[in-house]
Amino acid sequence: MSAHVTFQGFPVNHYGHLEPFGFDNFFSAQFASISAPSLCPARVASDGKETFELLGVPVHTSTLSGRLRFQAADGERPVVGDWVAVAVAGDHALIHHVLPRRTEIVRRAAGSQGRRHIVAANVDHLFFVTSATGDFNVRRIERYLMLAFASRARPVLVLNKADLVTDPQPLVTSLQAVAPGVDVHAVSAHAGRGLGALQAYLGCGQTVAMLGSSGVGKSSLINSLLGERWMPEAQVREGDGKGRHTTTHRQLVLRQQGGLLLDNPGLREVGLVRGQGVLDDVFVDVAREALRCRFRDCRHRGEPGCAVEQAVEEGRLDPGRFESHRRLEDEIASATRRQTGAPAKRRWKSAHKAMRAFSKLNPKRES
Ligand code: GDP
Ligand code: ZN
Repeated sequence: MSAHVTFQGFPVNHYGHLEPFGFDNFFSAQFASISAPSLCPARVASDGKETFELLGVPVHTSTLSGRLRFQAADGERPVVGDWVAVAVAGDHALIHHVLPRRTEIVRRAAGSQGRRHIVAANVDHLFFVTSATGDFNVRRIERYLMLAFASRARPVLVLNKADLVTDPQPLVTSLQAVAPGVDVHAVSAHAGRGLGALQAYLGCGQTVAMLGSSGVGKSSLINSLLGERWMPEAQVREGDGKGRHTTTHRQLVLRQQGGLLLDNPGLREVGLVRGQGVLDDVFVDVAREALRCRFRDCRHRGEPGCAVEQAVEEGRLDPGRFESHRRLEDEIASATRRQTGAPAKRRWKSAHKAMRAFSKLNPKRES
């Protein structure tokens, strides 16, 4: 990184003051590779059509450079959570570059032919909030997990409104059954129960996004996790006089006690865009059984020697879960065909790749 970089008039050769916003070695290296001494890094706290709110630079307004505005494809424009390289002039910043993303939450744009819509970037932990009453649906959780694994953010399942049931444990157990290896927490935003476990994900610079149906308590949880005091950066809104938190506008908020929170209202319907490999991440139990299928490319649809179908028959694999696996697999296949026009063969290739990786972790299997 250049020794000539200045920030607020002071020469700096690292960006320690940006660590609370999530700037780490990864982004530092990305920023250094741009090698433009007049630019400095900043993080997008909200993305409007014309203007963007930024964290980490003392500006009131920011807009896109001509290149980003007129030449960049959809996926190259900044979204909330992105790290960008900006030129600061007075209290205005011009966004010149979007740094490569570590994670990317993508959904299929509504009504489109499989077009990708990037909802947020550089989220570390994705909280899927469900309610202990009403909203509970394990099949939906599987869809959310597909989205999380595809994004590369770490999924966490949050069962809110635990105060409304006598014993949340059976619900927790059924969540654990559809999410092997994923953390599950029963909490109550109202009673303040279990919030400590959630705070643990909000270390300095860690970004948490909340997903889940309307009414499950995402806003309540965000408010409980933020506490009374907000960082001033989060208060900057451009002249619309609205509060800092609104459910119609994605906004990244810095938490006084550490970490950043993002409410994601735009994700009620999860259209899947990619991931045969991701399917194996979500359904590790199915993938594990599949290692013993007679044919390496077994589709578990009536082939002889299918260990997955055998596991269902013998009661080791929940038939509902197997059915869900099938449906999601079909959905991904058709989304993949729409996006790339690729023949179905290609997805089996990626399935094999995931399986080989899995075999390495599971040396018992004969090759
Ligand atoms: P959002 O749409 O996901 O943001 O949900 P809200 O945070 O607006 O909450 C929806 C409703 O559930 C509100 O009436 C809240 O007061 C209520 N609520 C949220 N968390 C809890 C909780 O832990 N326990 C109970 N009993 N009610 C809750
Ligand atoms: Zn099989």
